[in-house]
Amino acid sequence: VFNFAAGPATLPEKVILQAQADLFDYKGCGMSIMEMSHRGKEFDGVIKKAESDLRKLLGISDDYAVMFLQGGATTQFAAVPLNVCNPEDTVDYIVTGSWGDKAYKEGQKYCKANLAWSGKSEKYTNIQSFDSIKQTPNAKYLHICANETIHGVEFKDYPTPADEDTILVADMSSNFCSKPVDVSKFGIIYAGAQKNVGPSGVTIVIARKDLLGASQPITPVMLDYKTQADSNSLYNTPPCFAIYICGLVFEDLLEQGGLVEIEKKNIEKAGILYDAIDNSGGFYVCPVEKSVRSLMNVPFTLSKPELEKTFIEEASKEGMVQLKGHRSVGGMRASIYNAMPLAGVQKLVGFMNNFQKTYA
Ligand code: PLP
Repeated sequence: VFNFAAGPATLPEKVILQAQADLFDYKGCGMSIMEMSHRGKEFDGVIKKAESDLRKLLGISDDYAVMFLQGGATTQFAAVPLNVCNPEDTVDYIVTGSWGDKAYKEGQKYCKANLAWSGKSEKYTNIQSFDSIKQTPNAKYLHICANETIHGVEFKDYPTPADEDTILVADMSSNFCSKPVDVSKFGIIYAGAQKNVGPSGVTIVIARKDLLGASQPITPVMLDYKTQADSNSLYNTPPCFAIYICGLVFEDLLEQGGLVEIEKKNIEKAGILYDAIDNSGGFYVCPVEKSVRSLMNVPFTLSKPELEKTFIEEASKEGMVQLKGHRSVGGMRASIYNAMPLAGVQKLVGFMNNFQKTYA
């Protein structure tokens, strides 16, 4: 089937087949990849290679620590303020969808979180021009969710923080490694792996090293970036299998030519899907403003909402699954991450055209 799930999501077939072999006997060592000590030489090779390939992919300099952590991106909503703020510090959030809103609400527990801008009144279909967003002077950080998985809103460019010392923080869970990113613009980037780069269970955090070591005293040791960075993500038992799969995905992305090439493919896939929606004469509608439409998550509705159930059932019969929109917004959502082949999107568009002919 073509799996349009928002995450956990489709992974490259090549990666799954390799994992299948390594699940039984990892590189002839006689143990499954799942059975090896995280302190043994085999796993040491796995995690070091995964980190070094990720550094190559995103051009991450030695000024940044790369960590493979647990607890999902949701845990990072708390870890970020705990690591870089005192309770009396002010921070800004630009909220462009449900995930940014969750991050903002969690941030309020650990510092003075200010809502610099929210797209809620416009049902999260747009991003305000950066010039007119009022940031707090001397805020510790400015937080964005680079791609809103539910609402399909993606930053195409990034706001400049108010002050030189204000850092930009981004939740990149759903567009991580989908295009090149200038990491040097950010203080912290975090991403749950289970959309573009692996299975659930590991969260990747990229943090500027000079920010480490200033955590609040109440910070749980597992959330302390300095502890995690100093122990190369091996402070406790890491999510070994998930890290191993991420490593295979990074290798595959490099083999495909890196993120410049990946972005080209993602632009092509998203382009044909948005065109199909926009050229349907209103039968299909994508509510998101064109300039901020996500390359990864494409939400759309039908002009006849009573047909949505039929749409999902018929698509599923033809091998296109997980197209139901998030329960909070309804409609449909096609998640077309890196591993979704062009053929999957072409098939979906063909199906949409036929469905319209039958039911319009
Ligand atoms: N941020 C974004 C943009 C997401 O899409 C998600 C999950 O879908 C999360 C955060 C939460 O991630 P997790 O379930 O790994 O905690």
